[in-house]
Amino acid sequence: MSIQIQNVTKRFGNFYALDNINLTINPGELVALLGPSGSGKTTLLRVIAGLEAPDSGRVFFDSEDATDKHVQEREVGFVFQHYALFRHMSVFENVAFGLRVKPKKERLSEAEIQKKVHGLLNLVQLDWLGDRYPHQLSGGQRQRIGLARALAIEPKVLLLDEPFGALDAKVRKDLRRWLRRLHDEIQLTSVFVTHDQEEALEVADRVVVFNQGKIEQIGVPDEVYDHPATPFVYGFLGHANRFESRIEGETSWIGHAKIDTPEHVGLSGVKATAYIRPHDMEIAATAAHAAVTAKLEHIVKLGPNVRLELADISNGQLVQMEMPRECFDELNIVNGDVLNLTPRRAKVFVEEPASK
Ligand code: ATP
Repeated sequence: MSIQIQNVTKRFGNFYALDNINLTINPGELVALLGPSGSGKTTLLRVIAGLEAPDSGRVFFDSEDATDKHVQEREVGFVFQHYALFRHMSVFENVAFGLRVKPKKERLSEAEIQKKVHGLLNLVQLDWLGDRYPHQLSGGQRQRIGLARALAIEPKVLLLDEPFGALDAKVRKDLRRWLRRLHDEIQLTSVFVTHDQEEALEVADRVVVFNQGKIEQIGVPDEVYDHPATPFVYGFLGHANRFESRIEGETSWIGHAKIDTPEHVGLSGVKATAYIRPHDMEIAATAAHAAVTAKLEHIVKLGPNVRLELADISNGQLVQMEMPRECFDELNIVNGDVLNLTPRRAKVFVEEPASK
């Protein structure tokens, strides 16, 4: 089942929660809606589900216009951050619930329900917990049962809203790998909302980056990370050092360092900003080649990596640098040292004209 969102706008009063959204999700794809709090991700998920009606625009499931269809007709499965399992029902009965409430004509026999629920519990690798009650499960197990319950009705689309948001970091990581493997197995068109960049990049086939009700970029994880379309995407997908830059022909200058920017040819003299990831900063051969000269203020050892926090000596601005521990050890540097830094890679964005 594909999902097509065409020119969807949703307002709450005068506020645009979704501003003319266009997005196609391919059959069997796992797509992440990624963005900061309040950017419209959940609203779009609710519009897809039929829990929220758009003010304008259409939603298609395959080629069928589903915009006016009721949530129950859309055959979607949901998993939320706090999935409300029924407390008084066993795990087995929670998963069976959607099957038991079907109209009599469509309802499976008891033997078929037993088989199906055990199959689903096996799929989420929790068949051994069927007799337990929700309060006897860990948070991660509860979410997996939530997923089994959502899948029981054989939805055409699976929608997940911050499914692992309430779990601790380790469980979250395990579960997202597990979700990826499960998705590869069942190939159900799935959309999940997250504000966690790492989660989106690790799990999704494609990532849709939201900002203030608009889509900033749609792409496969490598594409959005390595080739962010806008300064917002660059900044949202990891820490960024920012420096003023000036364009000359096919080159951009950052201090005394230059990088190739053929994409900006013809924009000589235009104001620009260079974005550099901390792991793309290195020590320059000399001050004459440096993008920035900065004083080392903090050394933070993070397992195999080291993060250096420096202050730009021209303006005091924080400059961050990251490197493997072996490289750091070879440099023999201490707090208070003044270092000349240059980018290995940078992305230069031209500032929007003021009139726009
Ligand atoms: P979060 O990650 O915090 O859940 P989000 O990107 O999912 O954020 P949405 O829940 O889609 O954001 O909300 C988008 C904007 O619309 C927010 O500013 C929110 O306050 C507003 N909004 C959402 N639902 C309503 C509503 N029912 N009434 C009024 N405003 C709403």
